[in-house]
Formats: sequence, structure tokens, C-alpha cells
Amino acid sequence: MDTIQENLKQVHEVIRKACAKAGRKEEEVTLLAVSKTKPMELLLEAYEAGERSFGENYVQELNEKIQCTKEDPGYAKLADVSWHMIGHLQRNKVKYIVDQVDMIHSVDSRRLADQIEHDAEKKGVIANILLEVNIAGEESKWGFTAEEGKREALAIARELPHVKVRGFMTSAPYTEDAESNRVHFKNLKQLFDETADLLKKEGIPAADAFDTLSMGMTGDYRVAIEEGATIVRVGTGIFGARDYSK
Ligand SMILES: *Cc1c(COP(=O)(O)O)cnc(C)c1O
Repeated sequence: MDTIQENLKQVHEVIRKACAKAGRKEEEVTLLAVSKTKPMELLLEAYEAGERSFGENYVQELNEKIQCTKEDPGYAKLADVSWHMIGHLQRNKVKYIVDQVDMIHSVDSRRLADQIEHDAEKKGVIANILLEVNIAGEESKWGFTAEEGKREALAIARELPHVKVRGFMTSAPYTEDAESNRVHFKNLKQLFDETADLLKKEGIPAADAFDTLSMGMTGDYRVAIEEGATIVRVGTGIFGARDYSK
């Protein structure tokens, strides 16, 4: 079996090549290591190999891992990593993570954004968020439609002082053929550019912070980078397949 160190090297190589092909700088793309269901030993291994940004899906697991970096001397090194919440978030759980993570990728309703505003103000922080867009219009997926995403990005940037809308996130359809998701990545990039222009045109002060496009997972991150992703979320490609049976 490949080690995490070897996997990371390969992933960075794919990122490097995709950036070169698209005429982009490698520094424009952040690799988020998606560590949900994986034990701390493996996160430490990724950390030792240079990884500093981790994505988690479940509030309780995220909190336990952060707690572990504070209480277990064996994992104290990981105290400086950047944690990202990428999973579906319930409003009553926002308070547990709003001041613990650097970014919430999965904001899929205005009510959730309002809750983040409320809890961020209470804790005295500004929360970085992405609006999740269901860009392929899949029945089963969370997220705004493209039109809603654009409209809500403007409204939230105007109305919520403790929330910083940094951009959009999407999970493209599961497929064996990454190329078939290219059109979705292209569409989200276009929506992102249009929204960024609108924020500027309307003179909204937060316009400069709208700089993040989170798209691409193990199966399709190469294509996502070619189409403009600034964060790719890779789990299986780094840590191997997940086991949900435990
Ligand atoms: C699990 C997950 C990922 C990582 O998926 P892989 O296919 O293992 O790379 C990325 N984004 C979200 C939102 C996820 O839930």
C-alpha cells in the first residue's frame, strides 16, 4: 500500500501539472486534505509530510480532533493547522465550530448564514464562509441554485457584518469520468466571476474578499484546477478509501 507521504507527493504532482497546463501558478491552489473518519495518526503523518489544511465533515469528529491537538502532547504539533468544515451543517451546531475553523465551505441556506452571523458576533469573530452551489442541479444534493447563489452572495456581503463570503463551493456529481464534470466546473467558475464583478460594481466593501472557489475531489480535482479551482478537497487520494462500518 502507498504511504500517505507518497500519495501526497503524487497529488502535488497532479496539481503542479494541472496548473502548468492551465497557465496558473501552483500557489493559487490550496490542497485541503479531507480527513473525515481517519484517525489522528494519519493526520499526523500528512502533517509530517507538509500538509497544513484539513477538511472535516462532522462537527463532533472535528471538535474531538481539535481537542486532541490541545490535550495530547503527541499531537500538539497540529495546533497550527487550518481546519475547514466541509460537511452539511445544522444550525444548532454552528456554535461549536464557528470560532474553531478557518472556513465553512458548506453554507447552503440563508438561515444557516444568519445563524453563523449570530454565533460569530457572540464569540467576537468574523466567519469565512463559502456558499455551496448545486451547480449540476442534482436532486439529492444540498446547496443553492446558481441564481440563488449569486443573489445570496450579494445579500450576505451587504447584510451580515460577522460573515465574510469568500466564494463558492460545489461537489460535482460522482463519476468515473472526470471530463464529464468539466462543464460543471466551468459553470461555477463563470458564476463566480459574474458574482465577483457584481460585488465590485455595487461597491460592496467585502468585494475584495471574494476570492475562493472550492471544487474538485479525488476523482476530478485535476479538471477542477484546469477550470479555476483555488481549493481542491482530496480525501481518498491521500488517505485511501474510507471505512464507515466502524
Ligand atoms: C468526503 C468529501 C470530499 C473528499 O472526497 P474524496 O473523493 O475522498 O476525495 C470532498 N468534499 C466533500 C464535501 C466531502 O464530503
